[in-house]
Amino acid sequence: MSDPLDILRTGFAHAEAYRKGVSARSCGPERDYAEMLESFGEPLPERGQNGEAVISELVQKGEPGLTPMVHPRFFGWVLGGSDPVGVAADWLVSAWGQNAAFHESSPTASALEEIAGRWLLDILDLPGQAAVGFVTGATVANFTALAAARGAILRRSGWDPDADGLFGAPPITVFVGDDAHTSVFSALGYLGLGRNRVCRVRTDAQGRMEPTDLERRVDETAGPKIIIAQAGQINTGAFDPFPEIVNVAREAQAWLHVDGAFGLWARAHPSYNPLTTGVELADSWAVDGHKWLQTPFDSGYTIVRDTDALRQAMQIDASYLPPQTGEDRIPCFLVPELSRRARGVPTWAMLKTLGRDGIEELVDRHCSVAKQISARLDRISGVCVLNEVQLNQIIVEFGASDTTNEQRGMLTEAVITRIRDLGVIFVGGARWKGAWVMRISVICNATGPTEIDAVVNTISSAWADVRANTVKTELSS
Ligand SMILES: *Cc1c(COP(=O)(O)O)cnc(C)c1O
Repeated sequence: MSDPLDILRTGFAHAEAYRKGVSARSCGPERDYAEMLESFGEPLPERGQNGEAVISELVQKGEPGLTPMVHPRFFGWVLGGSDPVGVAADWLVSAWGQNAAFHESSPTASALEEIAGRWLLDILDLPGQAAVGFVTGATVANFTALAAARGAILRRSGWDPDADGLFGAPPITVFVGDDAHTSVFSALGYLGLGRNRVCRVRTDAQGRMEPTDLERRVDETAGPKIIIAQAGQINTGAFDPFPEIVNVAREAQAWLHVDGAFGLWARAHPSYNPLTTGVELADSWAVDGHKWLQTPFDSGYTIVRDTDALRQAMQIDASYLPPQTGEDRIPCFLVPELSRRARGVPTWAMLKTLGRDGIEELVDRHCSVAKQISARLDRISGVCVLNEVQLNQIIVEFGASDTTNEQRGMLTEAVITRIRDLGVIFVGGARWKGAWVMRISVICNATGPTEIDAVVNTISSAWADVRANTVKTELSS
């Protein structure tokens, strides 16, 4: 048997070594999934083993298959950088072994959720009386808020889906922008509202909902309605036109939900806040901590103006659980889980460490770096930035404009593959309006202006390599 403290120290020492060395590492996993399966693959051990040795083996075998998401030149997907403060707070959550279900189970975890929730509403400039549920991410935040929406709007028609289910209920029409995040459709599926049973509203070149199309479709539709808008499109970073959407929603007495996984953080900066004007008038919002706030995974927030609607959707009763009395905030009454991690703790620690000015600085730095990168990429021949870079997201396509969409897609994928081989930066691909594009998301807290040269030079040289190769192939064929 190892000393329990030695096990913790072993874990700490490995974490320290990883963080010290990560920015010098190649910016991508060294081994792939198949290699990792092989590396870890063995039958269930018949006999227990020494815990310290298990942790060391985990690190030795596991590190080659880690993707360096905390690396300053990591721009894949849209992911925060697991700030050390959030990590330390999260370690304590595990070390303390708290189940954050309700006050009695953990007074500290419950109080920190209450305080962090108030701070979130303050920094995001959302209604102070709204309920904040701490969940795993924006997918579950969308699901949870839309569950509240489903119940509230059907009860207005005299039907309680939380008690009686959806069979026989008046049909709900859900209006979603054509470029909404895929997790919204999943959430609708979980809720019995159907992934495909939605009214998809036309969007513009940036992925913003066209309010006239929304208005027309809403006008044509009778019965209960939910409208889902977006703050921060996953590819372009664009914001839906909230003032117009709010008017349509009010007129139709529809519930308005906003998926703002990363984009809602724009509200923390005076120059970017205007992009979100009107968003505060919605009924519910989804936002992530593990993106711009840099908490470790996983951390998201579901925010609902009507606390009762959220409580009714998430209701859970047992003799050993507290009853809801008065307005007391009981953590597990606002989320789908009963036993749960104390996610409020790393959020509290990050908000306290960064403060209002620190969050403003993060948003400012990342948006400014994104704008500088896009301006320089756009000057390279054959490189085309496809979006208006208003926030932190850049999408790029490679190839001459007189080539086919398919040819440009192949060149773009070839550039991404070449960049992965070079290992200096990490970027990914995505489909955007029928084109295969490279997406660069500037959102890791370790990323700053010093990375700009490396990003532009790496992309430029990968593109030169791909072009040289294409020319060679053309000559030889
Ligand atoms: C990332 C993202 C999601 C999904 O969030 P998870 O935290 O991965 O569950 C949903 N919507 C938008 C706009 C996003 O950027």
